[in-house]
Amino acid sequence: MSIQNFAPLKLFITGPTYIRQEVRQAAALPEFGHRDSENELRFGPIFENLKKLAGADDDYEAVLFLGSGSTGMEASVRSLVADDESILNVSVGAFGDMYYTLAESNGKKAENLKFDYGQPIDMDILDAKLKEMRPDVVSFTHNETSTGVVNDMKAVCELIRENGAMPLVDGVSIFGGADLDLKNSGAAMYSTATQKALALNAGFGIGFISKEAEEKAARVQNKGHHHDISKHLVLARKHQTLTTPNCALANQMCVQLDYIVNNEGIAARFARHIEMRGMVEKWVEGLDGFDMFAPEGYRSPTVSTVVCPEGVTVAQLKQGVKEALRGEGYLMDPGYGKLNAALEEAGRRQVIRIGHMGDITPDMLGEYLGKLETELKKL
Ligand SMILES: *Cc1c(COP(=O)(O)O)cnc(C)c1O
Repeated sequence: MSIQNFAPLKLFITGPTYIRQEVRQAAALPEFGHRDSENELRFGPIFENLKKLAGADDDYEAVLFLGSGSTGMEASVRSLVADDESILNVSVGAFGDMYYTLAESNGKKAENLKFDYGQPIDMDILDAKLKEMRPDVVSFTHNETSTGVVNDMKAVCELIRENGAMPLVDGVSIFGGADLDLKNSGAAMYSTATQKALALNAGFGIGFISKEAEEKAARVQNKGHHHDISKHLVLARKHQTLTTPNCALANQMCVQLDYIVNNEGIAARFARHIEMRGMVEKWVEGLDGFDMFAPEGYRSPTVSTVVCPEGVTVAQLKQGVKEALRGEGYLMDPGYGKLNAALEEAGRRQVIRIGHMGDITPDMLGEYLGKLETELKKL
């Protein structure tokens, strides 16, 4: 086997994302015992910095699940929807649908309220649905990675609470790239992951669990073992994981979170993401026949979606543009597969994605947009 074949592509997809050299190297730091004092050296700062990055107060506890973002989401469903309760999953795209799948496949009484691709949650429609269905729990996506739409988390949580339900939030593709102000968000549990805007390898699901959620979970039955947030919380309070952690990822995460909080700075990191969204918007303005997909005010700071001109096909994007950019050292995102298939079927224009999250810099993005433009102009 030749590891020389592992090409160092710059990832402009939406996860996993580009990892800095320092963080790659941190994977080679020594393994450690997860019930030993060495564990605290890594996970002490990890738990503290996660809460800082989330803007969490003492009302929230951070938990690390072995798995990925959807492990945290599944834990929220299993731990916070009781057997005799119902959940409304609100979807503005593929990942909203995923929350519904997680609820349904765990035998929960679930309904999926779907909005059109590229649109945020319509508050009036949600309000009416809440009043009709009277769910106990509601899930929604903070940042819909398939469409580049960011929902107004606080406003949606507030509406859910006004209707007497508990909000669960999927923040997988935005945590680490935008200000959550978790303490004022209204979310009962917020789930995220390492491999998107945190710019780490995949391997941990991250959950921020409120006191209210903790109290409820204590009364919910049939939570399984790996998805039982009550069990996780006991260990998390000791800065430990329920099961054996990935030591390489823990070392990387310790280094990366310290860099984010104490070197780059949280505010600067968030500002950099907003700057990159602005760069894409400006770039699209100058491109004939291309438009932003998400409406202004609801555009994600971590992933931008761009509508291609009439007549551009999935095949042109996947085989033409994507492969040409691979030759330039980039992994391009030709759009979310199911979304583009559905758009093509409906006679609508194709949408490509530009992941600009994590540790991608405005310089890197500028260079990438230049190469992407050259290829798009050949269409
Ligand atoms: C990537 C993603 C997920 C799935 O996360 P995994 O870490 O692959 O389990 C869920 N929701 C959103 C919004 C995502 O972007």
